[in-house]
Parts: sequence; structure tokens; C-alpha cells
Amino acid sequence: MHEKAHMFQSLKKVSRGTICIDEPMSKHTSYQIGGPADIFIWPEDQEDTAAVINFCNREGIPRFVIGNGTNLLVSDRGYRGVMINVTKAFSKVSCKGNVVTTGTGVTLNHLIEYSTEMGLSGLEGLIGIPGQVGGALMLNAGAFGLEIMDRVIAVRFLNSDGLVEIRKRNEIDAGYRRTNLMKTDILIEAQFMLDEGNPKVMQTYEENILKQRREKQPLSLPSAGSVFKRPPNDYAGRLIEEAGCKGLRIGDAMVSRKHANFIVNCHLATSSDVLRVIEEVQERVYQQFQVTLEPEIHLLGFDTI
Ligand SMILES: Cc1cc2nc3c(=O)[nH]c(=O)nc-3n(C[C@H](O)[C@H](O)[C@H](O)COP(=O)(O)OP(=O)(O)OC[C@H]3O[C@@H](n4cnc5c(N)ncnc54)[C@H](O)[C@@H]3O)c2cc1C
Repeated sequence: MHEKAHMFQSLKKVSRGTICIDEPMSKHTSYQIGGPADIFIWPEDQEDTAAVINFCNREGIPRFVIGNGTNLLVSDRGYRGVMINVTKAFSKVSCKGNVVTTGTGVTLNHLIEYSTEMGLSGLEGLIGIPGQVGGALMLNAGAFGLEIMDRVIAVRFLNSDGLVEIRKRNEIDAGYRRTNLMKTDILIEAQFMLDEGNPKVMQTYEENILKQRREKQPLSLPSAGSVFKRPPNDYAGRLIEEAGCKGLRIGDAMVSRKHANFIVNCHLATSSDVLRVIEEVQERVYQQFQVTLEPEIHLLGFDTI
């Protein structure tokens, strides 16, 4: 406690941001699960974010940047270090011609609404993904045949020394739910090249996508979306369903009956409930198909990570 209080006081001296101590991660993840982060901070702007990076470097404190927490499973013990949320720091969207420039703390849904209003088309397929632009870029989020990196021109980020760098799209290696952007970097801004589009046509397409999401996904219960990556030439959901895992429940975590690749929090699930379901599904799928399912969600604060 003393150490945390010390961290809190020292950080207050270098940052203008809002800082909390022992902040429950269950408040910041779509799973609504996760123990406390020692320190949770919302830096004010780019300079302030760099100050937080430098502070953590100097003090040797681990740090993690969180977006909307929609792809995260945080352990019940929480996170020992500084959790950084850039929602406030990088929240502007603008456009010039067909180029949209956005802060990474903006939600994908807001970015798409903005682009649609501006008659700029190309990102609509990502509507309904509940994350922020930063998280989506990091993981190359995708849906309906589109990946976010398909439209990126360049990203701007703070490197591990808190210095600004720019990476053009052709300098980023990206594939299915992965990029080689460094986990130690904090993405701050991205530029997208879009096409001219008709807002009415775009809206209709978006509504259709949202309808499909509502029909196929268990959106009434907390989750982190698809838990496992698609294995080569197959679908995780198909393998999980055929391995008889739909409805598999440990504690309050359950493989959704609506979409087998979702593990939902039925109400009071703990992280260890979810982790045990993940392991059980992996085991059963491996026994039946000799396929190792690789998690798509990020596990944070567990022994091995
Ligand atoms: C109901 C539901 C449906 C979903 N559907 C889809 C889907 O169709 N397609 C899909 O791809 N995903 C889907 N997801 C998963 C998730 O929404 C996406 O992966 C999203 O892009 C994660 O963004 P986030 O802001 O929530 O990131 P977080 O979960 O907060 O973080 C994810 C990773 O990104 C990093 N990160 C976040 N912000 C930054 C930043 N500014 N700089 C550097 N690193 C950062 C974090 O450190 C972490 O490693 C779904 C999730 C849910 C709950």
C-alpha cells in the first residue's frame, strides 16, 4: 500500500492527468471482470502521456495501455503497475479531402459515424466492433472481409522512450489479427485513406451489419468477442461446437450457445472461471481435431504473462 501511495504521489508531480489508485479493472473491461490496477491514469494530452512513459521508465514500473478493454481478460489479482487510458488524450477526428485523421482514443463506431456523415467510405465493415482505434490498429481488427490496416496510410505513436515516431503503412507488417507494432509503443493518431461514398447507402450497409451482429452474437451478456483466432482453413466456432462445448460452463463463465467462439460472463464470472473454460475448450478441441486454438483475447496479469 505504501508503495502504491508513493507511486501515486510521485506520478501526481509529473502528470496533469486524472489518477486513481487500486482501480477495479472490472469497470474498464467489456467482460466486467478483473481485479485492481495499482494505478490507473488518464493523461491529458500527448506531452502528458510522454511524461507518464518517462516516469514509468525512470521508476522501473510496468505499464500497460488500455483502450475500451474489449479484447482483454484481466486476472482476478489485477495489474501490478500503471494502467494508461488515452481516451482523453487522443480524442480528435478531422478530415481533409479523402484523408481522415483520428486520435487513437476515439471509438471505431464514432470514427465510422463521422466518416459516414462526411460521405467517406471504406471503414463501414468495422461498425459494431466495440473497441477504440488504438486497440483496433494494434490487433488489426477486422470483420466482414475488411481489416483496419486495409485503409491505414500512417500511424503516429510514442515509442518506449516517450518520443514521437511515425510509421507508414508500408513499414507495418500486418496480418490476420496481428501487427508488428510494438506493445511498448503507445499509438496516438492514425490516418486513413477513404473513398467518396453516399452516406445513405453507407448507413444502410452499416445497419445491415449491426443486424447481423445482433443475430449472431450474444450481445446481451458481457464478453470480449471471439476468444480464439481462426485456425488455418477453418473456424474456431465450428471446431468448438463440434467438440460439444456449446453451453460448457465453469462457475459463471460459459461457452455461448448462440456463438461458440464467445465465452460469456453469465453474471459473476471470475477471470479464473473464464480461463478454465478457455483451457477446457482448447483441450476438447485438441482431443477431437488435433488443432491447438490460439487465444485472440489478450490475457493480462496472469502468472505466465
Ligand atoms: C461483442 C464484441 C464483438 C467484437 N467483434 C470483433 C470483430 O468483429 N472483429 C475484431 O477484430 N474484434 C472484435 N472484438 C474485439 C475487440 O473489440 C477489438 O479487438 C478491438 O479492436 C479492441 O479494442 P480496445 O480499444 O477495446 O482494445 P483493448 O482491449 O483495450 O486492448 C487490446 C490491445 O490493444 C492495445 N492498445 C489499446 N489501445 C492502444 C493504444 N492507443 N496504443 C497501443 N496499444 C493499444 C492494448 O495494450 C492491448 O494489447 C469484439 C469484442 C466484443 C466485446
